[in-house]
Amino acid sequence: MLSTPSYAAHSSQSPLVRHLISRRNVGPNDVQIAIEFCGVCHTDIHHSRNDWGRANYPMVPGHEIVGKVTALGANASHLKIGQQVAVGCFVNACRTCSSCQSDMEQYCLNGFTATYNSPSKDPGGFTYGGYSKSIVVNEHFVLKIPEGLDPAGAAPLLCAGITTYSPLKHWGVKPGMTVGVIGLGGLGHMGVKLSHAMGAKTVMITTSTGKAADAKRLGADAVLISSDAAAMQAMSNQFDFLLNTIPVAHDFNQYMPLLKVDGTMCIVGAIGATGELNSGPLVFGRRNVAGSLVGGIKETQEMLDFCGKHKITSDIEVISIDEINQAYERMIKSDVKYRFVIDMGSLA
Ligand SMILES: [Zn+2]
Ligand SMILES: [Zn+2]
Repeated sequence: MLSTPSYAAHSSQSPLVRHLISRRNVGPNDVQIAIEFCGVCHTDIHHSRNDWGRANYPMVPGHEIVGKVTALGANASHLKIGQQVAVGCFVNACRTCSSCQSDMEQYCLNGFTATYNSPSKDPGGFTYGGYSKSIVVNEHFVLKIPEGLDPAGAAPLLCAGITTYSPLKHWGVKPGMTVGVIGLGGLGHMGVKLSHAMGAKTVMITTSTGKAADAKRLGADAVLISSDAAAMQAMSNQFDFLLNTIPVAHDFNQYMPLLKVDGTMCIVGAIGATGELNSGPLVFGRRNVAGSLVGGIKETQEMLDFCGKHKITSDIEVISIDEINQAYERMIKSDVKYRFVIDMGSLA
């Protein structure tokens, strides 16, 4: 076993502190990675504080991991020592079910192994994430970072990037289409960049007039203020696709009339009960409501290559590991543009 420093929460009430963990030895199909950067996702806060009631402690969060290969198993020959690689939201899946066979490990019928807080055969009995100096991952779940992409800015692509890319691709976003991105945070800012790069007319839909300039800088062609009833009315039946990134329960119904006939709104932010859905706008317009979870390994690599080609990274604020607890407090207040990324060089 390989001992490595990490930052861990020891209970739902306690701040994250330095903690030594063990990684498994590098097996024939494994890749050992020296972690350089790890993005900070809202999910990290939820798990650290046991908001979803299934936390295992010590909890080492982090599923937006970028680093360099330091050791390779005999069967991991498609990678090289020193290569810039990445790990996203999951590190294993059954590889045999219909979802896995269709390159959709995120929908593994037997349940994927999340990068942290999932039961596993690893030392400790469950997985530890990217707030650490090194990680050992099966080669199938290791992505390649294209050359020329800033490794710190690329880290959030592994969750925020693929979460928005996958539905935009699935619903065929392309030039000639009008896409609305609802909510401008970690997910929304990636949604705007990616939709714009795919050639769609991209509209930022937000409650806040203060976000208009930033939305345009990120690539939005227009901004629609959702609290402006007349502006919302004027945009009814205009959208082919809506990407809803709002992270909390909210009223979906106000957005549905924006969709064209057969248009779809996809939920990628809020998970859980959402209040009553009015079937009226669905029936009168054959409109759809859908959901989507990250993306499979093949699609995640495709997303990274797309971002390499279009020079897309996340807008980030780099922090040292000892700033993580403060960063959580700022994220809860939405005080970050648009993602914190931990420089793991700061963890000794
Ligand atoms: Zn995430
Ligand atoms: Zn499976």
